[in-house]
Amino acid sequence: MEKKVKQQTKAVHAGDRKREGRYVPVSTPIHTAASFFYESMEKLDRVFGREEPGFSYARYDNPTNAALEELCAALESGHGALACSSGMAAVHIALLTALADRRKSVVAADALYGATVNLLMNVLEPLGVAVRFVDICDLPAAKAAIAEAKPGCVLMETASNPLLRVGEIERVAELATAVGAALLVDNTFATPLLVRPIELGAHLVVHSLTKFLAGHGDALGGVVVSDAAHYDTLRALSRTFGPVLGPFESYLAMRGIKTFAVRVERQCANACRVASWLKDQPEVGRVYFPGDPAHPDAAAIRRQFPEGLYGGIVSFELANAGRNEVFRFMNALKLVVPATSLGDVHSMMLYPAMSSHREISPKHRERMGISDGLVRLSVGIEAVEDIIHDLGQALENSGVAGASA
Ligand SMILES: *Cc1c(COP(=O)(O)O)cnc(C)c1O
Repeated sequence: MEKKVKQQTKAVHAGDRKREGRYVPVSTPIHTAASFFYESMEKLDRVFGREEPGFSYARYDNPTNAALEELCAALESGHGALACSSGMAAVHIALLTALADRRKSVVAADALYGATVNLLMNVLEPLGVAVRFVDICDLPAAKAAIAEAKPGCVLMETASNPLLRVGEIERVAELATAVGAALLVDNTFATPLLVRPIELGAHLVVHSLTKFLAGHGDALGGVVVSDAAHYDTLRALSRTFGPVLGPFESYLAMRGIKTFAVRVERQCANACRVASWLKDQPEVGRVYFPGDPAHPDAAAIRRQFPEGLYGGIVSFELANAGRNEVFRFMNALKLVVPATSLGDVHSMMLYPAMSSHREISPKHRERMGISDGLVRLSVGIEAVEDIIHDLGQALENSGVAGASA
């Protein structure tokens, strides 16, 4: 396949249709073998020594994962990829890869996925990694923090969770590179249909495959996509501690990715409609959506996101609401699924204070701008009228509407 084809084309072709003996399967099979052998010991020796491409042991590599990794690397314009057992396993090994030959210091965006904050503060910091948080959308502040800390790694998300702040990847990459740091971008929310951080100067990209890429709420997985400079370290670490994806999930992820571009286009269009409807509802306070012209990072969004494709996530506050009102509202939903996760074909709603940001102290949450009335909606591919109708009836039937009237 030619490199210059578009994302929609890569999604259905990259990685697949490798010759296996006398035939070529149209889709990649699930290879469950834990180990592999060849016609001679000499060849197996060369494969083990990585003098020759091939598979030897499933913790190192397997053909199903290799196909998925080729697909993810193609979509993210990377040199290579590693399929991991979860998004968090991917974040973890990507951080270790970035820090392997560098100062054990991370400058991280202050608005990150909850488990990532937890990993930094409760796992890496006690192990001796210095961690400093900064508002990555405030470039002068980011510049000062990076110049001062001289970190080994800078970590940010393309669109932060759940408030959807968007930093300038290209500028941050320059700042990181200037001090010899690697820039690691969690691109889960934007997907490589919208933004490809490696093209903007990032060194490593991670995804929770569980979300938009696999897209059907039936497989947990993650992936690290790497530039050429970090790829060997990434694979060497993985061979040592084995955070790899199993072949069944790998198959599901790859099957899901084939339709990700179509799904995400639809989710983006639906999210635009839902966000503008929400803005008109008196029971709804602030609406957080990257397509909003009044978004605080509108300039960065215009530069990085394609017109009309602002992601499938809309966060919003119920006016004057706390935990009880939010629970009543979410209990009243009939179509939108009140469950953790995002990016699935079906719409889902999550309460950050209870789930994704539960492990963070209420005070820290408040500083992050995550109020007790905030919910995060992942807009699915349903008919948008049905999504809006469900939100409307839930506002009405939960009494939240009456409360503010
Ligand atoms: C879900 C998520 C993760 C973690 O992925 P898992 O597959 O749940 O381990 C990391 N980053 C972001 C932005 C996510 O949304």
